[in-house]
Amino acid sequence: MIVVKTQEEIELMRESALIVSKTLGEIAKAVKPGVSTLELDKIAEECIRDQGAIPGFLGLYDFPNTLCMSPNAQVVHGIPNNDPLVEGDIISIDCGAIKNDFYGDHAYTFAVGEIDPETEKLLQVTKESLYVGIREFKANNRVGDVGYAIQNHCEKHGYGVVRELVGHGLGRKMHEDPEMPNYGRRGRGKKFIEGMVVAIEPMINLGTQRIKQHRDGWTITTLDGKPSAHFEHDVAIVNGKPELLSTFAYVYEALGIKSDEENEFRKTALIL
Ligand code: MG
Ligand code: MG
Repeated sequence: MIVVKTQEEIELMRESALIVSKTLGEIAKAVKPGVSTLELDKIAEECIRDQGAIPGFLGLYDFPNTLCMSPNAQVVHGIPNNDPLVEGDIISIDCGAIKNDFYGDHAYTFAVGEIDPETEKLLQVTKESLYVGIREFKANNRVGDVGYAIQNHCEKHGYGVVRELVGHGLGRKMHEDPEMPNYGRRGRGKKFIEGMVVAIEPMINLGTQRIKQHRDGWTITTLDGKPSAHFEHDVAIVNGKPELLSTFAYVYEALGIKSDEENEFRKTALIL
């Protein structure tokens, strides 16, 4: 069952999303060779609590931490540990927060220092595919339109689109209907309507689309050991069009990146 949100609820969800956005911005300042994923996890938990929210993943389905930390060949759901990040790594960081009973949920894949050009391109194309997908999340389009757009964009580059893990509706629950696969057929699946809020989150592999799950019951890695990237935004349908609730602006501010990629998905300029 799809739970549509009122304009007031969407504003509350924007607040939750931006708490996560700010947290990813703090994390962006700290991602560097030598830092452990557990140290980053502590920074994130503090940042979320300082904003009057609670970590959305901690304890959810018994997940033990605030952040899902998935380096290199890990796709998603990696558990923070004491291993230091190393120059040339990539690290996919997924973060959730709850405020006013609503979840925010978004993710960014960071480069640790200098990374090889092939992996850099994977990050760039995966992030592009996120916006290509978001553009299709509008009234009267269907779930398959978003999936098709993401799949088509990534497969053009020869990348593997993970099938087993998907985006999702978002609200008072972390995972609501509909499921939002990153692959699909145009015009198929549930129809989008005003007030829907979803998390769109391409998980894209440099090599094979195939994945495996580790014995810890959480960590997912690529079957061929090649890198995987993950970017995620929270998006609402407002006046029939996709409107971003989350932003990478805090990450970009921390990293000194200039970008106008989000402008078309926002009614008014974001004030940081
Ligand atoms: Mg997420
Ligand atoms: Mg999600």
